[in-house]
Amino acid sequence: MAILGRMIIDTHAHLHDQEFDYDFREALERASEAGVSRIVLIGENVQNSVRAIEKTQMAPARWATVGIHPHHAKEFSATSISKLRELATHHRETVVAIGEIGLDFYYDFSPQAIQERAFRAQIELAMELQLPVVIHCREAYDQSLEILRSYCASFGKAPWGVMHCYFGTVEQAWEFFELGMLIGVGGSVTFKKAETVRAVVRELPLEAFVLETDAPYLAPVPYRGKRNEPSFLPLVAQRVAEIKGITADDVATATTQNAQRLFWP
Ligand SMILES: [Zn+2]
Repeated sequence: MAILGRMIIDTHAHLHDQEFDYDFREALERASEAGVSRIVLIGENVQNSVRAIEKTQMAPARWATVGIHPHHAKEFSATSISKLRELATHHRETVVAIGEIGLDFYYDFSPQAIQERAFRAQIELAMELQLPVVIHCREAYDQSLEILRSYCASFGKAPWGVMHCYFGTVEQAWEFFELGMLIGVGGSVTFKKAETVRAVVRELPLEAFVLETDAPYLAPVPYRGKRNEPSFLPLVAQRVAEIKGITADDVATATTQNAQRLFWP
């Protein structure tokens, strides 16, 4: 379904998940046919980050991030941080960010204090390695802003990166953007009830956004509830274009540039 005249980048996919074990290559082919030129595979803990890196070696022009997701914050330790550092430095050509990291106070799978410690340690790792961060945030937008601002205060510069799968308010989105974070827009922008997501897309400039699937999760309409995959990403670009009253190709051009600036400077 090549509905775009330009290439787009899927900045967030879990294509190395078991869900794609039987058709990883086919999913990549479908993505290419749909105009998705690059895909970033996102690590969720040390083991999963290793898997992401391994999968990128099977497929040219794919990249990976390494990090410990807030759901796995209990696995955070000095050892796991040094393992992430080792992965990022050994695979400098492949690893484009530290992520996904952050706070999830909705599920609270790990105690909040531990989530915060893991988040800070990984922000510091990213700053040390001069890499961007991919942030997962749920019901903790103010806390995340506070943490990012604290780095701004002590280093004169906040970490930069992307607020993946953004569900916060327009005001918070502006604050993240002003701190140097981009906003990740995915399938949820097509959901009937996601009016706040659409408000964020409407209000912020095109320079603030990157596209993402979060495959296998959050498939856009009309695939909602099914397994998501990178080839569905043009549907997200199209919806963003409708909201902003511009062409999908303009969305593709701008978001591709934004993603390139962020991950391949
Ligand atoms: Zn994710």
